[in-house]
Amino acid sequence: MNEIVLASANKKKIAELHELLEGFKVLSLKDIGFEQEIEEPFFTFHENAFQKANTIHQFCGKNVLADDSGICVSALGDKPGVLSARYAGEGANDQSNLDKVLQELEGQSNRRAYYKAVLCLIWKGEAHYFEGECHGTLIENPIGDNGFGYDPIFVPDGYSQTFAQLPATVKQQISHRAQAMQQLVAFVQQSL
Ligand code: IMP
Repeated sequence: MNEIVLASANKKKIAELHELLEGFKVLSLKDIGFEQEIEEPFFTFHENAFQKANTIHQFCGKNVLADDSGICVSALGDKPGVLSARYAGEGANDQSNLDKVLQELEGQSNRRAYYKAVLCLIWKGEAHYFEGECHGTLIENPIGDNGFGYDPIFVPDGYSQTFAQLPATVKQQISHRAQAMQQLVAFVQQSL
């Protein structure tokens, strides 16, 4: 079975990626004995995804998958974007990041936003990229317990509930990450 190391410490993200990687032997950073933090110093999803994947590939020499993702809010000039995980600053968490976005959107009628995911797969020593976007609107009051991050305020186009309310199976079909993963799985199957 093909082995892939997931270069992420975000448990919810790992769970989503793991489910989408049916048929692979998935290894965590813990499984390969990697315990440091990986810096994400760049301002593009591509560079950060490569940084994560390459750091782990250099460490273990295996096939590695990294995801760099975030939410881009139209009325905020596509912020927080690559800064989504740390938008509220030092010690930020999902709640404080979401609160900051809601605060900045107060009084705004334009509530459009999209999630973006860039996957970097280092496969047989070479980097390959796969992207997905999921567009929708942001509501004022967070609702729902599924998912993570900004999901309690994100209503994907074509639905009337947030990603945190919708069954996980829906997110796993239409999300930015799911779309990128579909391309990745097709690529890997072709190159076996
Ligand atoms: P990264 O680990 O630097 O790629 O940061 C990803 C951040 O983007 C997460 O911590 C969330 O704030 C946000 N994000 C990415 N994907 C999702 C998603 O599927 N749902 C909710 N928030 C997401």
